[in-house]
Amino acid sequence: MNPPVRMCVRCCLITPDPVLVSEVHQGSGPGFNVYACPECAPHFPPVPDVLHLLAPGWRER
Ligand SMILES: [Zn+2]
Repeated sequence: MNPPVRMCVRCCLITPDPVLVSEVHQGSGPGFNVYACPECAPHFPPVPDVLHLLAPGWRER
C-alpha cells in the first residue's frame, strides 16, 4: 500500500505532494522513508535530527 499523501515529519500536516527527505535503513526489515511537505523540505539538513523524534529507539538494537 502506497498512499499518495504523507504526513510531514516537521509540521505534522498531511500533504498531497510529499518530498522524500531521508531514508531510514534498519538492520532487519525494509526500513522506512521520511517525508516532508514542500514548504518544510528545504529546511531539512542532510542528516535530519528529526529521525530521533520519529523513532526514539531505532538505534538501540
Ligand atoms: Zn511541513
